[in-house]
Amino acid sequence: MNVRIESQLGADGGGYAWSATAVSREESLEPDARGGENPRQVYDPFVDAPLLFWEFSQVKPAKEAVLDFANHRGLLVGTHYSGRVGGNTLAAWCAEIEVMRFAIEVQSALARGDDEALGKTVIWDDGTDRPRYVTPAALENLKRSWTGQQRAHEITLFSHGALTAPAERLVQDIIEWKTQSPKAQFFFGAADEPEIIVRVDELRQVVWFQFALAVRGRGLRFCAHCGRPFVMNVRSDQTLCSKNCTVLDTYHRKKKAQRMRADGVSVREIAKAVGAKTRSLKENMAQVKKWID
Ligand SMILES: [Zn+2]
Repeated sequence: MNVRIESQLGADGGGYAWSATAVSREESLEPDARGGENPRQVYDPFVDAPLLFWEFSQVKPAKEAVLDFANHRGLLVGTHYSGRVGGNTLAAWCAEIEVMRFAIEVQSALARGDDEALGKTVIWDDGTDRPRYVTPAALENLKRSWTGQQRAHEITLFSHGALTAPAERLVQDIIEWKTQSPKAQFFFGAADEPEIIVRVDELRQVVWFQFALAVRGRGLRFCAHCGRPFVMNVRSDQTLCSKNCTVLDTYHRKKKAQRMRADGVSVREIAKAVGAKTRSLKENMAQVKKWID
């Protein structure tokens, strides 16, 4: 089956403004009536801004910063062609930014193998067989649905004290929760064209689809050294974002290998601990031998 994601986001050429509606006293971002008839700026976020989710996570949760972002990238709720929809309240923006920032932090810690950071989110109390998660308040709804809904048929057993597997599961749950309702359409194009087109035209969904692609390593990935997301080059085994990170990463792994050797750890165990994830154990052992000579 051939599936393609299509997306179009846009910012109103006249800009937006915070305004209260008749229905709700709470202010929401709406097209600025004083903005005039400037053409709308339309873009495909998956092509033109694949790291939009990262940009979004960096927005300061305050009126001015949110307005500035919306003027460039479009509204959080609603599509650029749907007109006035409401719901773009500061509270909605802040909650979404907070959850995205949190999810990125967890994924970044996973990519870096940073157990200390993961240990602040995944908590194991004595005598329990499942961990407790420390998450932002905006994730409370998701937490409630965990026990009741889609995962109920699955029995997941984490070994007591494990951090990676529960953290990965947390990230997956957030993504599945946040990407629930795009529009899908069957498309009768040429035989070799995609048959199913998934349309994601709402910014609040687009950023989660992008994040999901980065978690899965589909064109995007989180750097194993600095933890930031980056657009991968043609090599699918690229795990580091830049030359700088490659140099630093090698340096730190080499130092760690030498420290472990000084403590009498075997080459095999060192290779398992510091080896590149994309290499075989044999290749990593050969590398470790060079480092400790
Ligand atoms: Zn990096």
